[in-house]
This record gives sequence, C-alpha cells and structure tokens, in this order.
Amino acid sequence: MFVNKLDILLHHGYQTIPDLDAVVLPEIFRGRPVIGEGIPAHTAEALVTLCPTGAIAKNPLSIDLGKCLFCGECAHRAPDSIRFTNDHRLATTCREALIVVEGEDKPIDFHAENVRPQVQKLFGNALKLRQVSAGGDNSCEMELNASGNVNFDFGRYGVEFVASPRHADGLVVTGPITENMAIPLELAYNAVPDPKIVVLAGVDAISGGLFADSPALDRRFLERHPVDLYVPGNPAHPLTYIDGIRRLIRPTAAPES
Ligand code: SF4
Repeated sequence: MFVNKLDILLHHGYQTIPDLDAVVLPEIFRGRPVIGEGIPAHTAEALVTLCPTGAIAKNPLSIDLGKCLFCGECAHRAPDSIRFTNDHRLATTCREALIVVEGEDKPIDFHAENVRPQVQKLFGNALKLRQVSAGGDNSCEMELNASGNVNFDFGRYGVEFVASPRHADGLVVTGPITENMAIPLELAYNAVPDPKIVVLAGVDAISGGLFADSPALDRRFLERHPVDLYVPGNPAHPLTYIDGIRRLIRPTAAPES
C-alpha cells in the first residue's frame, strides 16, 4: 500500500509552478491584443459591427478589454490588423487602462498610484477574500478556484478564499450582477470589515459582458462602491488574477511587464 502511494507521488512529480512571475503562456492563449495602424475605414466599420459586446470602437480603432470576450472573431476577420498576444498581465486598477488603441504594443498599465497605502500595509502578507458569484456562469469561478490548486498555489503568498465575508478583507465579484444577486452582494460587502477591497473578475463583472443590456441586471453596486482591481478575461485566467492581486498588495513583488 505504502509503496503504491509512493509510486503515485513519484509519477506525479513536483507540480507546483516554482516561479509564477516567469510563466509564459502558450501562443494559443488569447491575452492582450495588438491593433495595427492604418486600418481601412470599411474594415474598421466591419469590426465594430462584428463585435458581439461593442468592445471595438473606431477613430481610433480600439478594443476595450473590459468588454472583450476574447472570442477571437475580430482577429479571424482581420488577421493583418488585429492579433492577440499571449500576454496574460491584463489586470489594472484603472478602468480606462483596459482600452487598447491601434498602434500600441505595450503592457497594460497597472496604475500603481491608485492603490491605497493601507491596502499594501495591511494585506501585503495575507489577504483573505470572499468570492461572490453575482449571476456568474461558473467559468470565472472555476478559474479563481484553480488559483489555489497545487499548480498555481496562490496560498503561498497568503492569499486565499474564505467562506464568510466576516472573515474576509475584500470581495471578488464575478458575473454581471443580476437583479437577484444585487442585495446579497450588498449584504456581503457590508459584512466585510473596513478597510476592504473590491475586485471585479471577468468581463461580466467589469461591464456586464454579453448581458450588459439585459433588464435582469442591477449594477448599481458599482455606483456605490469603489473598485480596487479589474481582472479582464472571459473567463479570467488564474495567472491574470494572481498577477493583479500580487501587484495590488505588494507592488514590488511582480514585474511591471
Ligand atoms: S475578441 Fe473581443 S473585440 Fe474581438 S470580436 Fe471578440 S469580443 Fe469583440
């Protein structure tokens, strides 16, 4: 019996990623897009029409990562004009920084100056978060859960999810915030002791995503409470989340690029 278990352990090997900052995701991963310059007007018009969430705007041509589903249709339609890089470092403290403009090929600006000093002082070594799925489809929730698995092992930095908002330092919101979840989300927020942080994970939480125009949403929570971190993706990749949180609580812990 013991030998069998030893065999299994040896077979599995060491699965934890030793250095999360050094990870380069495969080329197939759709991360930060790059938009070429001088795109003909008719192509730009077609791209704006094509995008299912209105993430693409023109004059100048831009993609809003807070609305983008990373479906890849725009790059498929105009491969000479748009490509997706494998850069997963997309999280930022500034909503406007999620807009990628034509001709730009640079990392998403984290805007570290927006981070409140008390966030780093209090949560730099340990951060407990309560996750609230506000009408989510379980995709972001699964990826967030994966951040604590044996591969990513986010717990090594003292960052974990907890069951009760009363034991948490902040909320991670997923889903477009449906009317049915508006009150539970507010209750969870109020149950978190001050000072607290709010993280929006995934396109649905950031903008409503595909459901942005639905009458079934009630997103007034975001008018009442400031957001500390935006984590784009559909769903957000665990490394995008990990990189964003690490930069939020320990600005020198992760690289700027
Ligand atoms: S990848 Fe994003 S910007 Fe492009 S069509 Fe899909 S949702 Fe729109």
